[in-house]
Amino acid sequence: MITLEQPYLENNGDFTRLVCDIQEDEKKKQVFFEVENKWAQYLCYERADAFLIGILNYAMRFKHDIVCKAPVTEELLYNINEYLVPSLAINDSKLYPIKITAPVEVEPMPNAGGVGTGVSCGVDSFHCIHNHYNSQYKGQNLTHLCINSVGSFHRGYTKYGIDRARDDVRRRAKAVADDLGLPLIISNSNIKQEFDIYFEHSHTYYSMFAVYCMQKLWKVYYYASTYTFAYFNLKNSSKKDTAYYELLSLQCFSTHNLRLYSEGSTKDRLEKTRAIVDDKLAQKYLHVCCTKGYNCGTCLKCRRTLLTLDILGKLDDFRESFDVDYYKAHRNEYLDWLYENGRTGNIMLKPIYNALKDEFNFMFRFKYSLARIMHKIFEIQDCGTKVRIRILFIKISYKRKNKCRN
Ligand SMILES: [Zn+2]
Repeated sequence: MITLEQPYLENNGDFTRLVCDIQEDEKKKQVFFEVENKWAQYLCYERADAFLIGILNYAMRFKHDIVCKAPVTEELLYNINEYLVPSLAINDSKLYPIKITAPVEVEPMPNAGGVGTGVSCGVDSFHCIHNHYNSQYKGQNLTHLCINSVGSFHRGYTKYGIDRARDDVRRRAKAVADDLGLPLIISNSNIKQEFDIYFEHSHTYYSMFAVYCMQKLWKVYYYASTYTFAYFNLKNSSKKDTAYYELLSLQCFSTHNLRLYSEGSTKDRLEKTRAIVDDKLAQKYLHVCCTKGYNCGTCLKCRRTLLTLDILGKLDDFRESFDVDYYKAHRNEYLDWLYENGRTGNIMLKPIYNALKDEFNFMFRFKYSLARIMHKIFEIQDCGTKVRIRILFIKISYKRKNKCRN
């Protein structure tokens, strides 16, 4: 059983925290969401909505019913109880159909009409900004940008430094926001530390928690999609990226007052990149790397993006954000990597693999296979050398021991 107490505000110097005391069986926990004082007016302490969304996936995994002491918006509770929880539980035996007990608030929470999105500066993020900065749909255009720290920095940045990566991302986001003349909301939270689930299996919940903490601001929030709607899938969702079922989850977390969109879900990664390659801000600030605060050029996301820019003939436009010369000098290695990882049907690599298929002709495959065979031989030889050295050491130490005994 998880009990969510009434949320409250707490001043923390230049920052204000929205805090919720939480009881998980015998354990007491405290989850906070923190923003600069100037944004405190939008923090929603009157309702449990944000915290319910934030821990929902965790509760379903660990078989916890939830009791909320503060009211939950009726429409949201209806969506979660009647659509989201049963759909997930029926399609995955690892997810428990939890019971949620809460007083309801029929009236929607008023908001300031803000339209927002995250500004991570990746392809998805720039696609969203590009499409909603000065669009023909005036009421759908962005009014604010956000950087929500709800767990994404705890993924691949541990070697580089989580704080360092966070600072890099925030600095870049600030530069983009200043350039666009939009205010940037920077937040911080410990929700992932307190209710920890592998980030890919929970990011939609953590991110919508952040949106609902600022419920009094948002009318619309765009959450940049990962997959197209064609990949919608609910089967065994506890072991998959939550992006696979955002078509359902974001619909369930939306109300008549706050509309959440899985932005960009009509395009694959290649098409999204094509949409932003002429955007000067994207050319300057695009950051896709999953291991460094800058684009390392060799991680999965960097390789994928460089190959995509190559396909689109736009490499030279991205010299400020990537080491394009290194890529050009090592292009064959990138193609080898794509051939090795893309031919098995990887969804994210499929569009670029198909676009570069002609490169993987008979000569390419012959050279690739030959290189693999040579690599294996050297590996065996290397292994043999290690075994021989080991035997030599054992012999020497045996002789030494014998000498000592003598
Ligand atoms: Zn990288």
